[in-house]
Amino acid sequence: MSKTIFQKIIDREIPAKFLHEDDLCIAIHDVSPKAPAHILVIPKKLVPTLNDLKPEDAPLAGHLFLVASKVMKELGHTDYRTVFNCGAGAQQTVFHLHLHVLAGREFTWPPG
Ligand code: 5GP
Repeated sequence: MSKTIFQKIIDREIPAKFLHEDDLCIAIHDVSPKAPAHILVIPKKLVPTLNDLKPEDAPLAGHLFLVASKVMKELGHTDYRTVFNCGAGAQQTVFHLHLHVLAGREFTWPPG
């Protein structure tokens, strides 16, 4: 199976702007930001979609949110939106789980 673009970033085969890295995940700036701040929190473990998370991944899933919160705090944002796109029908384009975190503008609800 060929590597996902995010696996290549984790493996430092292609560049990205890193905000955080630990044993479980990385946080990077999105290359095509949809808000003044748009970061991606990406597990190092290859989980294609939210549907593929297993019960034993619960600590990993929780960790992604804690890292999102930490990075937003470091960037000075208290208000932000978190999104997992799950599946092509929900506009997921990279099939390596990632949490979008967007901040720095007004958001509307419901999302489009
Ligand atoms: P999805 O549509 O799968 O939920 O989100 C994929 C996200 O990855 C998009 O927001 C897209 O801009 C971002 N992305 C795609 N390729 C790259 C890349 O090479 N580097 C970075 N930093 N972000 C990427």
